[in-house]
Amino acid sequence: MTSFWCEHAELGAGPVPGVRITVGDGRITAVDRAPAPADGDTRLAGVVLPGFANAHSHAFHRALRGRTHDQGGTFWTWRERMYAVAARLDPDSYLALARATYAEMALAGVTCVGEFHYLHHPAGGGRYADPNAMSEALVQAAADAGVRLTLLDACYLAGGLEGGGHQSLNDVQRRFSDGDADAWAARVSGLEERPGLRLGAAVHSVRAVPAGQLPTVVAAASGRPLHVHLSEQPAENEACGSFYGCSPTQLLAGAGALGPRTTAVHATHLTADDVAALGGTGTGVCACPSTEADLADGVGPFRRLRDAGSPLSLGSDQHAAIDLLGEARLLETSERLVTGERGRFRPAELVEALTVAGHGSLGWADAGRLAPGQRADLVAVRLDSPRTAGAAPDQLVMAATAADVHTVVADGRVIVSGGRHVLGDVGRLLADAIEPLWEQR
Ligand SMILES: [Zn+2]
Repeated sequence: MTSFWCEHAELGAGPVPGVRITVGDGRITAVDRAPAPADGDTRLAGVVLPGFANAHSHAFHRALRGRTHDQGGTFWTWRERMYAVAARLDPDSYLALARATYAEMALAGVTCVGEFHYLHHPAGGGRYADPNAMSEALVQAAADAGVRLTLLDACYLAGGLEGGGHQSLNDVQRRFSDGDADAWAARVSGLEERPGLRLGAAVHSVRAVPAGQLPTVVAAASGRPLHVHLSEQPAENEACGSFYGCSPTQLLAGAGALGPRTTAVHATHLTADDVAALGGTGTGVCACPSTEADLADGVGPFRRLRDAGSPLSLGSDQHAAIDLLGEARLLETSERLVTGERGRFRPAELVEALTVAGHGSLGWADAGRLAPGQRADLVAVRLDSPRTAGAAPDQLVMAATAADVHTVVADGRVIVSGGRHVLGDVGRLLADAIEPLWEQR
């Protein structure tokens, strides 16, 4: 047994002062009020929150940070660079990059990541000796960084969608494709869950998966999390409308893809009917506010989706920043900018998105709350930093950043202490993983 004494702890109805959390075998065994630490308690200053779930990640996009803002910095600049990185990765370099990226997440309070994985095969096509070698690199990376992983293996078959139909894959995109949904499902069936790993599935988007292939992916995902990029840009809606005569949300609904195990990522450009369809089926929605801002996507109707019945989670997606507290704050402040109203999401709702809703989206019903029986995931956030000094504990999410996270416990194991990750200098790990990808060849 290990015990942590929390100066304040978020027990579901806001932070309360003086709480002892006892942990055994990676689970919380007791939560007690305790005005002062006892001998043997590890003292956690500030506010202790449940572990954060980063519900949408493309680990390799971390290599793009600070690399896509020249030459006009358009969406096309970003995409050209993303393909350049995608073309260079192999299982070893992918492991190094993902390990460092997941360690950066841990420093930000993330104890579980949903990896939306589509970089499956060798550059130029063909197959690795283990056709899941790139998936296994991600599994190893998460284990090394001490975070849990939900691997959302994405079906990706077409190079895009225009009014006339789907486009063929370009040279880089060929790495992403299994050929058809049956071959995708056959490859994915070779993976097995293990401690710290949950398997889910993903439809890259209606741009990359033709409607006739969708039911195969939905069937393969049965009982598991299913994620899909949805209506991130207006062009997707226009092409879908021209080719199929309906919105992407309607197309997914027709394929049986909506429901409580499904998470729509971005959900930026929706009609009122789309909002009703997502909310009415209990389909989750993952907002990625820093990415949506970086890529000039727009601001989705997240308050309306929540009110319609969609649980909201958060993701750092392309990792223009890895600061989950920042994502939560941006969810609220973006709403303020587009509606002219404050208080669209209460601080407690933002914490819910970071914790219990995020874990729900990734298939971990036993994580995201500080309660007996739950996984022992603790995130301690300073109340005495230059950013947070003077903030009320119950409003900390509107002030704190990743830099204010000082201790992180995942499944009972301390992976960050004093702001330092168990793997050491994460900046160095990131530089060593990223710089070779940009060297001239
Ligand atoms: Zn994405």
